[in-house]
Amino acid sequence: MLKTPVILLLAFLSIMGFSYEKASVSIVNDVTRSALQQIDDCPYISYEEGQVIVKWIAEGKPIERRYSDDEFLQLKIATCEDFESKYLKFKPNLSVDNRQQFEGVSKIAILSDIHGQRDLLITLLQAHKIIDTERNWIFGEGHFVITGDVLDRGNKVMEVLWFLYKLEQQAEKAGGRVHLLLGNHEVMVFGGDLRYVSEKYLEVASIFNTTYDELFSSKTLLGQWLRTKPIAISVNNIAFAHGGFSPKFVDRRFDLETVNRLFHDAIIDHPKNTVKANDTLRFLTKSDGPIWYRGYFRDEEFTKEQAQEIVDAMDLNAIVVGHTSYDQVLKHYDGLIYSVDSSIKKGQYGELLIWQGEEFFRGTLAGDIIKF
Ligand code: ZN
Repeated sequence: MLKTPVILLLAFLSIMGFSYEKASVSIVNDVTRSALQQIDDCPYISYEEGQVIVKWIAEGKPIERRYSDDEFLQLKIATCEDFESKYLKFKPNLSVDNRQQFEGVSKIAILSDIHGQRDLLITLLQAHKIIDTERNWIFGEGHFVITGDVLDRGNKVMEVLWFLYKLEQQAEKAGGRVHLLLGNHEVMVFGGDLRYVSEKYLEVASIFNTTYDELFSSKTLLGQWLRTKPIAISVNNIAFAHGGFSPKFVDRRFDLETVNRLFHDAIIDHPKNTVKANDTLRFLTKSDGPIWYRGYFRDEEFTKEQAQEIVDAMDLNAIVVGHTSYDQVLKHYDGLIYSVDSSIKKGQYGELLIWQGEEFFRGTLAGDIIKF
C-alpha cells in the first residue's frame, strides 16, 4: 500500500527536477545567444599572402572581406564610427624609433589607463580642446601622451585604438604628436597572457574562432602598429612611462632609448624562457621594471630624497606615470613625480595632466584647469 505513493512522489520529483534543469539550461542559452547577438565590433585587419583580410562583427556575426589591392581604403564599417579607412596604410610603416626624446614642445596633455573607456576619453579630450566635436585634432603643435594600458579591460578597446590611430596622423600633420606608450597590459597580450581580457573580447575571439592575442599578432595591422610604440619617452625633460623608474632601474644605469630597444628587440614576441634566462631582460619585465613599478606610491618605503636622486640621475625635470590608480591626477614629492591614472577604467570620471608655461595643471572632466 505504501509503495505506490512513494514511487509516485519520486516520479513527480524527478519530473520536476528534470524540467527545472531543462528550463534553466534553455534560459542560459537564450541569455548567451542574445548577448552574442548584441555584439558589434570594429574591424581587425591582417595581412596574409599578399592579401588584406578585414573582419568585424555585426550583431554577433563575423563578417570577412579579402582584398588584394588598396580597395579596402574605401571601406566603411557601420558598427565602428571611430574607424576611418582613409587613414589606413596599405603597407604599414614598421620602423621603430627607439630614441623618443622631444624638446621645445609648447604644451603637453597626458592621461593613462584608458582600458576601453572610449566615451569618457572623448568627453575629456573635447572638454580640453584636444579634439573638436567631430573628434579631430585641434591641439595644434601640442603633444598628447597616453602612458599605456589601452587593451584588456572595458568594452570599447578597438574604438579607442582606431581613434588614436587616426588622431596620431592628424596630430603629426598639424606639427603635434600623439605618443601612445605600452603598458603592462599591452605587453601581456603580446605574450598571450589573457587573464584580464574582458568578457566581450573573449567572446569576440571565440566568434572569430581564434584567441585574443592572435587578434593583435604581428600579422595584424594594429598589432604591428602597437609594436612600434615606445615604453618610455621624454618631452621637455619630463620622462613618461607606464609604471616608472625604480631606484634599482637607476642603479642599472639604463637610458630610455636602451629600454625601448630591449623591449622591441629582445622581449616582445620573444620566448619567455630566453627573457627569463637573461638578468637584464628579466629585470625589465618584473616589478622594478618600467611597466610594472609601483614603488613611488608605497609611502613607507619611498622618500622624497629617493625621488630626487632618480630625477637627478636621469637628468630630468619630472617623471609622469600611470598604472597606479587614484581618483584624479596627482602631484607627488613636491612635483618630482606626477601620477595620471585617474581611474578612467571605471568609466565614471577621468582627468588630464596638462603642462604649459613650465607648469603642471589638473584638467578635470568638466574642462576646468586647476593649478597644482
Ligand atoms: Zn598597468
